[in-house]
Amino acid sequence: MTQGLSNTLLEKLEGIVGHGRMLADPADLVCYAFDASGLESVPAAVVLPSNTAEVAAIVALALKHTVPLFPRGAGSGTAGGSIPSSNGIAVVLTGMNRILEINTGNLTATVEPGVITGALQKAVSKHGLFYPPDPASLSFCTIGGNVNTGAGGARAVKYGVTRDYVTSLEVVLADGRVINTGHDTAKGVAGYDLTRLMVGSEGTLGIITRITLRLIPQPEAVGTALVLFPDTASACNAVKSFFENRILPRCAEFLDAMSIRCVREMLPQEVHEKCRAMLLVEVDGPVASIQSQLEVVKKCCMESGAINAMVAKNSSDAAAMWKARRNLSPAIRRLGYSGKVSEDICVPRQKLPEAVTRLDEISKRHNITILSFGHAGDGNLHVNLLFDRDSTNEVKDMERAVAEIMETAVGLGGTISGEHGIGLAKKEFMELDAGTTQIELMQGIKKVFDPAEIMNPGKVLPGAAGNA
Ligand SMILES: Cc1cc2nc3c(=O)[nH]c(=O)nc-3n(C[C@H](O)[C@H](O)[C@H](O)COP(=O)(O)OP(=O)(O)OC[C@H]3O[C@@H](n4cnc5c(N)ncnc54)[C@H](O)[C@@H]3O)c2cc1C
Repeated sequence: MTQGLSNTLLEKLEGIVGHGRMLADPADLVCYAFDASGLESVPAAVVLPSNTAEVAAIVALALKHTVPLFPRGAGSGTAGGSIPSSNGIAVVLTGMNRILEINTGNLTATVEPGVITGALQKAVSKHGLFYPPDPASLSFCTIGGNVNTGAGGARAVKYGVTRDYVTSLEVVLADGRVINTGHDTAKGVAGYDLTRLMVGSEGTLGIITRITLRLIPQPEAVGTALVLFPDTASACNAVKSFFENRILPRCAEFLDAMSIRCVREMLPQEVHEKCRAMLLVEVDGPVASIQSQLEVVKKCCMESGAINAMVAKNSSDAAAMWKARRNLSPAIRRLGYSGKVSEDICVPRQKLPEAVTRLDEISKRHNITILSFGHAGDGNLHVNLLFDRDSTNEVKDMERAVAEIMETAVGLGGTISGEHGIGLAKKEFMELDAGTTQIELMQGIKKVFDPAEIMNPGKVLPGAAGNA
C-alpha cells in the first residue's frame, strides 16, 4: 500500500491499464514528482493509459474512492500544473501519442494528447501544411500539455497561440463520461464554447484524450535576421516600428544583456561590447516578398539605433541564429544560481519598454538578479529571478520582487501569464489578474465540472483546496 491507496485500488488500476502501466514503486514514482517549475511532490501511483476507455475507467474508479487525479503530459510546464499530491494518481498521457489523421482537404489534424508538438509539425509539413504554435520546448512537450496550458511560442506574433488552432476535443469528464466539444467545421456557434473553455484549463476540468487542430498552408519562404542594439529601448522601438511600417514579422524575439551573455558563444556573430539587447526577427510569405520585408526590418532597426543587423543567407545561417535562443533556458541554469523563478508576464506591445524599465528598477530595489527575454512582438517577457535558495533573505527579496512584477504587469494593462499558465506557482496572483467576481465565476465553473474536486485539485484558482 502506498500513501493512502489500498492494494485493492492499485490492483484495480493495474487491471484497467495493464501490467507495467501502473507504477507504485517509489523509484518509479519520483520520476513523475516534478516539472520545470522547480516544485515537486511524489504521487501515490502513476498510470499510463493507452486509450480513452482506460482514462474513463481510471476517472470513474478515482471518483468512487475520492482519489485526486493529476493529468500529465511531458512535465515541461513551468507553473507546477502537473505536480501531483502525495495521495494522488498521476495520469500520464504520453503513451497516447498517435497522429490519428492529417486531413489535407479539411486542413485539420486529429491527434492523441501525447503527440510531441515538433513531431506533429514535421508530419504536417510533409503535406505542405503548417501547424504554427512553436513553444521553445517543442521537441519534448506534448500537444495535450500545449492545449491545457494554452501554449504560445515565438510565432504567436503573426500566427497566434494554441487556442487559435483547436477546433474540437474529446474530453473525459470528472465522473468518467466522455464528451466531444466543438466541430471540425470552419464555423460553429452553437451554444457556449466549451472547447475554448477547456483550452488553458490546466487539467482542472477534465482529461483531454483527443484533439483536432486547424492547419494552414506552409508559407513559401522564411527570412531571418539577428540584430544587436545598444539598449533595450531601441530594440523595443524597432519592434514598434515594424508594425508602424506594416511589417508583421512571424517572430520578434528579444534577449536582454544578461541573456546575451549566457549564449554569446553560440551566436554566429561577434557581439560588440556596447551590445545590451538583441532581436531575432523572422518574416515569411511568398519568396518574392522576403527580401523587401527584410529590408524594411533592417531599416526599422538601424533607424531605432541598432549597432548592426545580420541577415541569414541560408537555412543553416538561420539555424545558427536560433541555436542561441533555443538554448537559452539551459544556459541560464549553467549560471550556477541555486534558485530560479521564471515569470511570464505579458503587456500591451507598446508598453514593453516601460515594463523593461520597471523590471530594472525592481531588480535594483530588491537587489535581485533579473534576466529577461521573450516574445517582444507579443509584449510577452520571460522574467527570470536568480537567487540563492538557501538564503532566507534572498528568498524574501525574490518574493517581494515577484509580487511587484505581477503588479507591474497588471498595472500596465497586461497579465500575470502570457503562455505558461498558473498551476500552483501563480495561483495566489489570480485575483490580482482577474478580480473577485471573475474568480467566483471560475470557481462556479470548476464546481459544475468537478463537484468532488478530484481533477487536478489545488491548481489555478486562489485558495483552491488540495494543494500538492
Ligand atoms: C526549455 C523550456 C522552454 C519552454 N518554452 C515555452 C514556450 O516558448 N512557450 C510556452 O507556451 N511554453 C513553454 N514552455 C513551457 C511548457 O513546455 C509548456 O507549458 C507546455 O505546453 C507543457 O506541455 P507538457 O506536455 O510538458 O505538459 P505538462 O507540463 O505535463 O502539463 C501542463 C498542464 O497541462 C495539464 N495536462 C497535460 N496533458 C493533459 C491532458 N491530456 N488532459 C488534461 N490536462 C492535461 C497538466 O495537468 C498541467 O496542468 C517551456 C518549457 C521549457 C522547459
